[in-house]
Amino acid sequence: MKEKLMNWIITQIFLSDTGVHEVYVHHSSHKLRCDCSGFSARNTCKHAKFVQSRMNDNGGVYPVQIDNSADKEASLASTDDPKAFRELLLNFGKIEAL
Ligand SMILES: [Zn+2]
Repeated sequence: MKEKLMNWIITQIFLSDTGVHEVYVHHSSHKLRCDCSGFSARNTCKHAKFVQSRMNDNGGVYPVQIDNSADKEASLASTDDPKAFRELLLNFGKIEAL
């Protein structure tokens, strides 16, 4: 189970009228998943579509936006650790409102 979770990397945190939602990308298949109810019902949602279109515009990689105040070394170190990376996004990432 732990190994499985490690394969999903957070891309973007959204603030919606339904709450806070997180979109993850699978490290090898590049499939997306979101934790909103729309995604669990339809296997797609506006959050996943937003991430997908940004990835398409950026050569398949999501352009994560991290605030300049984040510690550079911590930012770099966290790219190998999905849990640390999520912390970084929560603290310094740009939250999209959808
Ligand atoms: Zn969603």
